[in-house]
Amino acid sequence: MADRFEQLARKDWNEYFLDLAAMVATRGTCERLQVGAVVVRDHLPLAMGYAGSMRKAPHCEGQEICKEGTSHCQRTVHAEMNAIAMAAREGVRLKDADIYTTHTPCWNCFKVCVNAGIRTFYFRHAYRPDVKTLYNACFYLDGISLVHIPEDGPARTWVYSHQVKHPDLNYFKDFIRFGCDLELTKMLAERMLGVKWTGAEEFAKSIETEKEKIFS
Ligand SMILES: [Zn+2]
Ligand SMILES: [Zn+2]
Repeated sequence: MADRFEQLARKDWNEYFLDLAAMVATRGTCERLQVGAVVVRDHLPLAMGYAGSMRKAPHCEGQEICKEGTSHCQRTVHAEMNAIAMAAREGVRLKDADIYTTHTPCWNCFKVCVNAGIRTFYFRHAYRPDVKTLYNACFYLDGISLVHIPEDGPARTWVYSHQVKHPDLNYFKDFIRFGCDLELTKMLAERMLGVKWTGAEEFAKSIETEKEKIFS
């Protein structure tokens, strides 16, 4: 008889924590989007949060401001911020931790997470706000990585460029593909590769529909 442990299909860590973030998101109280976040170090969850109102404050239900097409929801605290708030309440250090979120973090959450000591951002769904700024930032921030792990398809990682030993043109094409600023990418590519990138504008144009699909 085969060892019955061989038959166990074990989730890998990234899938495990992304699924956990999706579970946490189900407590979200804003109709606009349910987002969840789990902060992890050494495979241990340290803190978690979902997009929700301040403690004891009313939820978003019936608030016109939360509906799609109006300005941002002002009532909720974002999932990532709530995870950091939970750590602050409970006295948990987040230095050198990673965060798993259901959606791409917004620029404000990203900044606060970086300053809280979070190094790697894993996310499931590419979500449109601020995505360009985030990818641009990864060019500059030492040791900060963004990892997009879609449900179907391979994971993609953006890291500060000095960590990539031998970047080629495909490395920079991916930055453009995922919304990074064309001028900036072109400048850095030319500097790092030491050649003129003549087809950059044409490439950017050719992937417009691909980009729309990713962030729609
Ligand atoms: Zn709301
Ligand atoms: Zn946010």
